[in-house]
Amino acid sequence: MSGLFAGLACRECGALAPPGPVHVCERCFGALDVSYDYAAIGERLTRAAIEARPPSMWRYAELLPLDGPPLVGRAAGMTPLVRADRLAARLGVGELWIKNEGVCHPTLSFKDRLVAVAVTRARELGLGAVACASTGNLANATAAAAAAAGLPCLVLVPDDVEPAKMVATSVYGAHLVPVRGTYDQVNRLASEIADRHPWGFVNVNLRPYYGEGGKTVGHEIA
Ligand SMILES: [Zn+2]
Repeated sequence: MSGLFAGLACRECGALAPPGPVHVCERCFGALDVSYDYAAIGERLTRAAIEARPPSMWRYAELLPLDGPPLVGRAAGMTPLVRADRLAARLGVGELWIKNEGVCHPTLSFKDRLVAVAVTRARELGLGAVACASTGNLANATAAAAAAAGLPCLVLVPDDVEPAKMVATSVYGAHLVPVRGTYDQVNRLASEIADRHPWGFVNVNLRPYYGEGGKTVGHEIA
């Protein structure tokens, strides 16, 4: 993997940034994306090599922004495609398949893929804690990954979230902090904390890495 993940680049102005816990371009405030050495990946990675690997999202490791192997979420990905004939007829299409992310491991949501990359990257960057702002699935996935990585976890939630939703997150030992306000306000608070403390907010300052985990759904479908 090392050497294939080239760093971060601004989506707007193209400026390069060191691959740390940052998501905004210092020059123009554009969003930062991960960049790869696709020529080197193309020489090394073949369809046959991918097919020979264990069935998880890590079959595409060369296309993920990590320096080393995954530390958490090793079983995430490779969810089934389910044929939905009745829905196909209803929609008037010949054939329809649904990617069932409800059986993704370990917390049964699509967020497990994103968080597996973000939390592994947090460990590679030596961050002291991971965190997120969430109203459900992301909180659960982040708390589980943090527990597996041995990192403290802070989860900010709007204070009107149903308690039942938070039970699963609490099981993993995360610090749940109810915040009086809307989800947008909670997110804003997360950004301000991320500016001030060396913590990895999976969907804020780790967003470039986090987002990359999601594209493995597309690789699997392809
Ligand atoms: Zn820029």
